[in-house]
Amino acid sequence: MELLKQRILQDGKVLDGNILKVDSFINHQIDPKLAFEIGKEFHRIFQDTEIDKILTIETSGIAFALCAGYYFNLPVVFAKKQAGRNMSCDVYKGKVYSFTKETEYTISVAHQFLSPGERLLLIDDFLANGQAIMGLMDIAKQAKATVSGVGIVIEKGFQPGSTLLRDLGVRLESLVVIESFKDKKIIFREALK
Ligand code: 5GP
Repeated sequence: MELLKQRILQDGKVLDGNILKVDSFINHQIDPKLAFEIGKEFHRIFQDTEIDKILTIETSGIAFALCAGYYFNLPVVFAKKQAGRNMSCDVYKGKVYSFTKETEYTISVAHQFLSPGERLLLIDDFLANGQAIMGLMDIAKQAKATVSGVGIVIEKGFQPGSTLLRDLGVRLESLVVIESFKDKKIIFREALK
């Protein structure tokens, strides 16, 4: 997605530890026009796929899942990282090891928002080691729902998440794939022609 690549080149910063900082338009401040373009692109890619619901993980996946949900006209569910007192006790739980925070946390989705047989599109902002998506896939499995595809805004192709998911037979579509951070410069993987 050219628009997204240009924005990453313009405003993204490479930090130590293979982290791309994009908090001026994705992770802290959000650019709504770009977010809707991202949602539209996910819809274009997955429009012929059978999907009943979009599932993401708080916090940064929500904006993009919501924009995709708008174009699909489908509900969006986000897994919560902290179960509040207003959350139902009947929840599916998954464990996620956070790449950026280097800690393990639990994600939860109330039983009432996922049903057996539902076909899910999973969406997240980044794919690194694949742990966030694996946590969502675990929850989908507990709910006896199926994963029709995974949509990622920024894939870091040099980290193992994409191989992990493809080896499981998951359809993975990333809007941009980063090949490497060479001397803190962002190198994108070119799509095969
Ligand atoms: P994974 O679970 O695939 O290892 O990592 C994905 C999650 O970690 C995403 O939900 C995202 O929030 C965070 N993440 C991973 N790599 C980066 C990165 O380079 N930059 C930012 N901003 N977040 C990242």
